[in-house]
Amino acid sequence: MMNRGSKGIAISFILGLVSVLLTLSSMSPKAETLPLATATTSMSTVTQTENSTESELSLPLTTPPQQVAQSPLPYDARLIDIRKVNPKIALDIRYATTNNFLKRKLYSTSRCVLRGAAVRRLSQVQQDLEKKGLGLKVFDCYRPLSVQKLMWQVKPDSRYVANPKNGSRHNRGAAVDLTLVDRNGKELQMPTGFDDFTVKAHRNYTGASAQARKNSKLLEDAMKKYGFIPLPTEWWHFDAPGWDKYAILDVSFGAIP
Ligand SMILES: [Zn+2]
Repeated sequence: MMNRGSKGIAISFILGLVSVLLTLSSMSPKAETLPLATATTSMSTVTQTENSTESELSLPLTTPPQQVAQSPLPYDARLIDIRKVNPKIALDIRYATTNNFLKRKLYSTSRCVLRGAAVRRLSQVQQDLEKKGLGLKVFDCYRPLSVQKLMWQVKPDSRYVANPKNGSRHNRGAAVDLTLVDRNGKELQMPTGFDDFTVKAHRNYTGASAQARKNSKLLEDAMKKYGFIPLPTEWWHFDAPGWDKYAILDVSFGAIP
């Protein structure tokens, strides 16, 4: 009787231990990479200051924004400045200038920040292109949600700007806008300029010059090789693989190392 009793206790102890371990392994930093749930909860984080009741409700499920940059998060999910990994990638961060379709400077600094996994892949694309005497020039990377809201204020038209309610993949640090340059840093001819929201920028548009189409295809193939997903309506836009696993963020550039 005693034996059976203590066996029972031992078994339930082991079962308890296993369930604790399982719970622990499903918690934090991985919680940040949960799909839709985190997207909406981080949206609520942003509204925390306006509505404390909502923040209390959403808090347990949310990754504090500063952790995304600083980090108990694994490298792949962290926000990383591309310059730290591959300084050869050229930058022309348009929203840090007035040279954009809104004619307004929206970023405080000219930086390309992406999730670590995307930074690593982009660096590999650059290395491949260098063998052909080419390189990448980046127009936009991670975009804080507050900037998305500002864009929406200026241009509340979903043909041009993603509604901040749903967020943009740029807000997840998992999308990049870019073009090709030659070894002198000169942009290769493409079907349109950046942020041309007409059918001419669509990947299936056949009216561009043969050279522009060839260059656009070259960029597309180079990006696809490392898993980037081309957006059909913008030749310059690519999503990082697994973009939906990353939450929408509102970390300011100043808070990212
Ligand atoms: Zn884009």
